[in-house]
Amino acid sequence: MLKLLIPCLKVDTLYDIDLAELQKRGIRGVVFDLDNTLIPWNSPEICPDILNWLNNLVSQGFKLCLVSNNGTRRVRQIAEQCGAPFVARALKPSRTGFRQAVAAMELTPTAVAVVGDQLFTDILGGNRLELYTIWVKPLATKEFIGTKITRQLEKLAVRLLKATGKLP
Ligand SMILES: [Mg+2]
Repeated sequence: MLKLLIPCLKVDTLYDIDLAELQKRGIRGVVFDLDNTLIPWNSPEICPDILNWLNNLVSQGFKLCLVSNNGTRRVRQIAEQCGAPFVARALKPSRTGFRQAVAAMELTPTAVAVVGDQLFTDILGGNRLELYTIWVKPLATKEFIGTKITRQLEKLAVRLLKATGKLP
């Protein structure tokens, strides 16, 4: 179980993701978590810098898909701003939403990376489907109450992983 929480890559911000390196790994599509990965939790709009970065990703040939546990209305609103397909109410860490995203991009799991701020939803779910998992620091500290509880577990898991040398 603990092994499935280890991200393939850990970065501070989206901008630290090396796109050329992803291409070298055969990654052709990127699944994004929404809240605190692309936008601060419950914010209605994606900021222009992140939108530009996503557009750059697309111009370099990557396909995008949003996968969120949040509701359809909100996820659609943001997905439309990025021009990407989406899966809402994904129940991450279930594999179902990630499978739907991989299918929406017409790719296979080996060609897909997932970027998210939570070990217990984004990274665990992505690893279960053997996607290339990228753990990014959350954009804001304001979070859904349920997330605050998982964060405590996350802290514990990170401490264990660091103690055993499995996470830098
Ligand atoms: Mg998130």
